[in-house]
Amino acid sequence: MLELSDVSVAFEGTRAVDGVDLRVADGDVLAVLGPSGCGKSTLLRAVAGLEPATGTIAWDGADLRGTPTHRRGFALMFQDGQLFDHLTVARNVGYAQRLRGLSRAAVRAEVGDLLDLVGLSGYAERLPRTLSGGERQRVALARSLAAKPRLLLLDEPLSALDAGLRVRLAADLRRILVESGTTALLVTHDQDEAFAVADRLAVMRAGRIVQEGPTAEVWAAPADPGTAAFLGYPHVLREDAAATLLRLAGRPPVPGAVVAVRASAVVAGPGEGQPATVRSFRLTPDGARLVVDVDGVGPLDGEGVPGWTAAPGERVAVRVDGGGVALLTPDASGS
Ligand code: ADP
Ligand code: MG
Repeated sequence: MLELSDVSVAFEGTRAVDGVDLRVADGDVLAVLGPSGCGKSTLLRAVAGLEPATGTIAWDGADLRGTPTHRRGFALMFQDGQLFDHLTVARNVGYAQRLRGLSRAAVRAEVGDLLDLVGLSGYAERLPRTLSGGERQRVALARSLAAKPRLLLLDEPLSALDAGLRVRLAADLRRILVESGTTALLVTHDQDEAFAVADRLAVMRAGRIVQEGPTAEVWAAPADPGTAAFLGYPHVLREDAAATLLRLAGRPPVPGAVVAVRASAVVAGPGEGQPATVRSFRLTPDGARLVVDVDGVGPLDGEGVPGWTAAPGERVAVRVDGGGVALLTPDASGS
C-alpha cells in the first residue's frame, strides 16, 4: 500500500503541499478533492517522483526516496489522455506491452481484453482523432492499465468532458478500477466525480488534508463550514436556526449543533410544512430552484415541487429531508 507521512512540496518558499499524511490500501480508490490551486497535481507529481518532496512516501513500507519515476511501478493519467495521435487505438494501448517485449499475439490478446474492459471492443484500428473526448479517455485508461501499475494516479481524468458524459464515465471508471483490482489515487475538484469513483475521500485545502474518511461518511459529517461549502452545502446554521432545522428534518435535537443543509433537502411548495417566504424563484430543466426565507431558520436554497411556480414575496410551505442535512464535527465547528 501507499503511505504518505508529513509530505510537503515548496515552490520558492511557499508550500503547495503542506504536511500531508495519507494512506491508500491495496485495491482501494482514494479521491483527493479540493478547489483549483490547492496542490492536488503537485501532490500527485510528488507521489510519482516528478516533484521533489520532504517527508516520506513509501510503498509497502519501503521509502521511495531515490526511486526514479519509471522504477516506481505507478502509472499517471491526465485530464487530456495524451494519446499518440499517429498510432491506432490498439497500438496506443499496447505500447507498454511492446516495451515489455511481449509477443505480437500476446499483445493482441491483452489489448483486446483491455478494450473490452473499457467498453471499446471494435475500436482497435481507429485513430485517436476520430474518437470523442470520452472515448479518448477510455483509451488513455486502457493504456495506463496495460502497464499493470501497482498504483494508478489519476489527475482530473474526467474534468475535460461535458457534465452528462462525466457522470456516466465516472461510474464506468469505478467499475473498471474495481474489476481490474487497481489501487488508485485520484485528484479532482469535482465532487460528483469523487463521489462516484472513490471508496475514500480526502478533502484538501491550501495544501493540507482537512478531512479524510469513507466517502459517504465525509459527506454526512463535514469537518468544518469551509469543507461543508466545498461539498455542496450552501448553508451552515447555528444555535436556534440549527435546532429548528433539525426538528423540521425529523432529527433528534443535538445541543450546540452546527448544521449544514443541501439545497436538495429543502423542498418548497403549497400545502403542509414550515411557513416560508420566497426570495427568488427560477426554473431549470431539472425543476424549480429557489431561495426561501424559512420562519425560525432564515434563508435557505431549495427546490420546488414539480410543476409548481411561485413569485418572490409569496408565502409557501417548506419540508426538509433529513438525508440532505449534515451535522458538523462539533470541535471544528468554530472555525
Ligand atoms: P491543483 O492541481 O490543486 O489545481 P497545483 O498542484 O497545480 O494545484 O498547484 C498548487 C500551487 O502550486 C498553485 O499555487 C500553483 O501556482 C503552484 N505551483 C504548481 N506548480 C508550480 C511550479 N512548478 N512552480 C511554482 N509554483 C507552482
Ligand atoms: Mg491540478
